[in-house]
Amino acid sequence: MKIMKFGGTSVGKPERMHQVAELIQKDDEAKIVVLSALSGTTNALVEISNNLAGFDKQAAKHNIDKLEAHYRDFIPALVKTADARISANKIIDEHFEFLNIILKISWSEALNKDILAQGELMSTKLFSVFLTEQGKKHILLPALDFMSIDAYDEPQVKEISFKLKQILDQHKDVKLFVTQGYICRNARGEVDNLKRGGSDYSASLIAAAINASVCEIWTDISGMHNNDPRIVDKTVAIEQLSFDEAAELAYFGAKILHPASIWPAQMYNVPVKLLNTMAPEDAGTTIQESAGSVGVKAVAAKDGIIAINIRSSRMLLAYGFLRKIFEVFEKYRTSIDMITTSEVAVSVTIDNDSHLNEILKELEAFGSVEADADQTIVSIVGNEIAETKEVLSHLFDSIKDIPVRMVSYGGSRHNISLLVPGSAKKQTLQQLNKGLFNL
Ligand code: ASP
Ligand code: MG
Repeated sequence: MKIMKFGGTSVGKPERMHQVAELIQKDDEAKIVVLSALSGTTNALVEISNNLAGFDKQAAKHNIDKLEAHYRDFIPALVKTADARISANKIIDEHFEFLNIILKISWSEALNKDILAQGELMSTKLFSVFLTEQGKKHILLPALDFMSIDAYDEPQVKEISFKLKQILDQHKDVKLFVTQGYICRNARGEVDNLKRGGSDYSASLIAAAINASVCEIWTDISGMHNNDPRIVDKTVAIEQLSFDEAAELAYFGAKILHPASIWPAQMYNVPVKLLNTMAPEDAGTTIQESAGSVGVKAVAAKDGIIAINIRSSRMLLAYGFLRKIFEVFEKYRTSIDMITTSEVAVSVTIDNDSHLNEILKELEAFGSVEADADQTIVSIVGNEIAETKEVLSHLFDSIKDIPVRMVSYGGSRHNISLLVPGSAKKQTLQQLNKGLFNL
């Protein structure tokens, strides 16, 4: 059985949904199709929820009506028969009835999650109506029946697997299942989600849970590229990546894949393929155990990084100092991305500023503390790059004029990371494209 996940743009227009229906019928293998919300929907739902949280019912109503109109327009182009159009409109009635009811009740975090879930519920139900119109036998699997996270927002693959297999066992003769990405239930049994962009994560968790033959992630670009196509002129798709390389790339900025979606596939050894709905014949990128080749594969950049420097001439050499510093970050559940140390100072980077003030205050107990926002981590990812001749010289030659603030090298054999001011990101990526890839 395989997993095919389609993102928002792949289902964002009626003709795209038609194309998805064709793509999933290209082979006979049984499959679970995981869908995102139509593009723009989750953003619209976030806005509606924010309107409500800010007591602006008028704006909320305006945005709800606008979204509803979008779905009403979608239907006649999606399905042709009167029956299918009635079924589709009924689905939209039901979900917009809910969205109109929320105008009358008070906002809460739990309600927010219910609001955000509407997008995937609607996209999968509409797709199911289309498949039915096409006479394609399938089952719509409610993700809320099997996808769950624990009290720390961590998905539990074993439990998901248990529940999902039980459901699949009831439909042994069915070869096509459709389910929602992104949404799940939390430890309290409430509707929740896997955070923005989480449909990839859903797909990978489902792939792990049923030990799928492959987890295909269909987007609108032909695989992961060696550099950011929005910033440099010429990029090429990467044919093959190891799970480790892909995890580094996704984590350090390659937008094509949700960073958390690597571990479930890796843990259960399910290959992940990144494919393009608009160019289905393109090879895309295969992510699997083996890296395929040695050397630099890609660079990626992650913005919005905060660098924190702790300077203490007295304490640094003392053992236990780093532990005390790490404990502060642990206390505020803030993870550190990069770290460098010298005799008298430690620099770390974080990407989450929600507890920055508390963290800085507590760190002051250990020395003088400075924080700089708007930094960018540029990561050079590849297999055994640390051992690959000339990588370092090409790397540093090509960015001679860039004010590099931190370098992290040797922590992993697949990654060299640089911290540069956000304003130098573009230049860094462009120069690395020349220096490392000759592009
Ligand atoms: N619809 C959700 C979002 O826009 C999840 C996803 O598309 O992956 O974040
Ligand atoms: Mg996405």
